[in-house]
Amino acid sequence: MSEQKIPYKIYLSEDEMPKYWYNLRGDMKVKPEPLLNPDTGKPMTHEELSVVFCDELAAQELDEDNAYIEIPQEIRDFYKMYRPAPLVRAYCLEEKLQTPAKIYYKFEGNNTSGSHKLNSAIAQAYYAKKQGLKGVTTETGAGQWGTALSMACSYFGLDCKVYMVKVSYEQKPHRREVMRTYGASVTPSPSMETEVGRKILAEHPGTTGSLGCAISEAVETAKNNEGYRYVLGSVLNQVMLHQSIIGLETKAALDKYGIKPDIIIGCAGGGSNLGGLVGPFVGEMIRGEADYQIIAVEPASCPSFTRGQFKYDFCDTGMICPLAKMYTLGNGFIPSSSHSGGLRFHGMSPILSQVYHDGYMEARAVEQTEVFAAAQEFARVEGILPAPESSHAIKVAIDEAMKCKETGEEKTIVFGLTGTGYFDMLAYQKFNDGVMTDYIPTDEDLAKGFSYIPDIPKNRE
Ligand SMILES: *Cc1c(COP(=O)(O)O)cnc(C)c1O
Repeated sequence: MSEQKIPYKIYLSEDEMPKYWYNLRGDMKVKPEPLLNPDTGKPMTHEELSVVFCDELAAQELDEDNAYIEIPQEIRDFYKMYRPAPLVRAYCLEEKLQTPAKIYYKFEGNNTSGSHKLNSAIAQAYYAKKQGLKGVTTETGAGQWGTALSMACSYFGLDCKVYMVKVSYEQKPHRREVMRTYGASVTPSPSMETEVGRKILAEHPGTTGSLGCAISEAVETAKNNEGYRYVLGSVLNQVMLHQSIIGLETKAALDKYGIKPDIIIGCAGGGSNLGGLVGPFVGEMIRGEADYQIIAVEPASCPSFTRGQFKYDFCDTGMICPLAKMYTLGNGFIPSSSHSGGLRFHGMSPILSQVYHDGYMEARAVEQTEVFAAAQEFARVEGILPAPESSHAIKVAIDEAMKCKETGEEKTIVFGLTGTGYFDMLAYQKFNDGVMTDYIPTDEDLAKGFSYIPDIPKNRE
């Protein structure tokens, strides 16, 4: 059978771009457990969520019935400025590895923020604007989300207050300045500006912060400022919904050439890019239409899936957010400083947690030096300088391609290349100088984190 030559890059036309997001919950047989109000222990209502989130986003958060939700025209217009993202056939990497595997990656780094996060930032800013709000508050770890959100807010003329994890604020001054250029205000977290920040600083003087702390500060600020709401760049159901654009485009591009993937791989921080990429494919698995091997890749230093517990936990350290049932290392778990800032969250998307729990997905934990070795190998042949987070997926894609080399199998591998690493050159420098270290938490370290998981009746079931 003669094979049609697959181009280096498969692009969709503007007309072929998705007009609906895909909500995996609509097809899930076992729905993820609802968010709980920590005060009452009851599921969060729309009214309660609307205190913190925009009305429309609160509705999306709770919608577990509609598999397809229309993308408003204004958001589709913005998407057209940097999408569709190409699906790239990694011919050069295949050649270098001498593998019979066929490798594809979906590249989300083609925008100034440098990652997939803009897909949800623009949606969240749009709904805030539509509701007539003045602005939004958020946290950022490595800075990608804050950057994406500040771009989206400047587009719609919204104020944007970002709490940036202190260690990143200090290590990544350039990220901070990109955000300020787009008009955002950036505060290192924990800060003295909020009650929860002051409390955390009193308990842990000299702490370099964590995403969980920064979330608490951003939520408090949204609640105390009229006309502001809080927005989050990962974990939530609404974010995974917006990120489904990645998987829908990937599927449309593959279908265009009749390609059926065997393995789909993504890195997992809070789960938004992974959920967005694999959602439409997992949907097919749940509906019994297809079968794929889906692999989540996380850092060994923050192993939520591979070593976490599937329990109700807080998403933030200050314990003011709703409780989510997810794979978690405990809300007090502060991971060792790693160079993959975007993967340092203690919890995981409740939707993906359920998908993993139900056996539709597997997970692997990898160490950072092997991740950077994969990043370097990839950059040298494919040209793109990948983000450390994205490189977790590269590492496992290469592992799988090498297995094919041993067995002679011609598997088709698709992975998500979530972004570029231009702001991560200090990390690359450490790797290039041979001084990068790996850290794997001991069971004792993890037990300390687990002790923060609340002892509520649901967790004793
Ligand atoms: C934030 C980020 C991630 C991880 O976040 P998810 O919500 O798990 O997708 C991965 N890659 C890049 C480049 C990021 O900025």
